[in-house]
Amino acid sequence: MGRVMKLPDFIEASKRYHKRLIITMGLIMGLLVLGLAVFVPLQPAIINHLQPRFGKDVASFVGQLPVGILIFSAFFGVIGSMLYTERTIGIVCPLCNKGLGNAPMRQVVIASKCCPHCGQRIIDEDAPGA
Ligand SMILES: [Zn+2]
Repeated sequence: MGRVMKLPDFIEASKRYHKRLIITMGLIMGLLVLGLAVFVPLQPAIINHLQPRFGKDVASFVGQLPVGILIFSAFFGVIGSMLYTERTIGIVCPLCNKGLGNAPMRQVVIASKCCPHCGQRIIDEDAPGA
């Protein structure tokens, strides 16, 4: 990446970044909801099945485990995919290398053509489509 970007390129890159994030989050949330829809109704059955053999505490712990694992996985999945997206197609200032991906940052960059972190111009002013 050069020292300055063209505005359409910046907008394109940040749209792609946001689209990827939204799709990934949607996918993870979809899987979470699906998983909860499967395991939450099963929870009493698992607990009832295990209770006679392992006692109430173990049974309810094991019964709640799938749902707990699902929620934990979704949580770390969201964090992991955010970091991954940021690292692979995230937008950083070409001068100070700080992130410009989130929506308010993007608005500041588009409006001012400067990086909100270091204040230097990072959008090529002669670019068409401004
Ligand atoms: Zn900067």
